[in-house]
Amino acid sequence: MGFFQFDQQYRSFFRECKISSAKDSEVVCIQEEDTVCESSPWTEMIRRSGFCRKKYKLWEETQGMCIYCGKSILVDDFINGNESDIEHIIPQALGGSSEWNNLTCSCRQCNRSKGDLTAMDYMLSQSSATLQDYLRRLRFLISAGLITKEKYINLMTPKTLLFRKV
Ligand SMILES: [Zn+2]
Repeated sequence: MGFFQFDQQYRSFFRECKISSAKDSEVVCIQEEDTVCESSPWTEMIRRSGFCRKKYKLWEETQGMCIYCGKSILVDDFINGNESDIEHIIPQALGGSSEWNNLTCSCRQCNRSKGDLTAMDYMLSQSSATLQDYLRRLRFLISAGLITKEKYINLMTPKTLLFRKV
């Protein structure tokens, strides 16, 4: 199934769940994937579909690629958390938030290898070719208007610049 079909499928799924389309600014915090919800089935469906929509938007933002290695991730795999994760660009261990501009789409292998490094520090630890690909990918995403300027800055920030006083 191609991107267009996935896109149609998920857009119609969200419509069916009566979820109006949210602006990025409204997408503040993503609940933990494993949270067990004990409320009514209807509430659970809304909650889950909202979660899926946020994941879908993160996936769409990188054009279905792992932000770090560029590997393609199927939307179903990302939604279901198969070998792929919502990734904190600035890790929580360094004070990174779970707000939209600090989240992206990553394959599990990169997510695990990255550990508690910032995205930029992780990429600086890779080969020069891999780093260049990453920078090219970011330039494409920002110039195509797919990611916000704030997210771009987070993706380019090494730990040494995190707490710098200007
Ligand atoms: Zn990857």
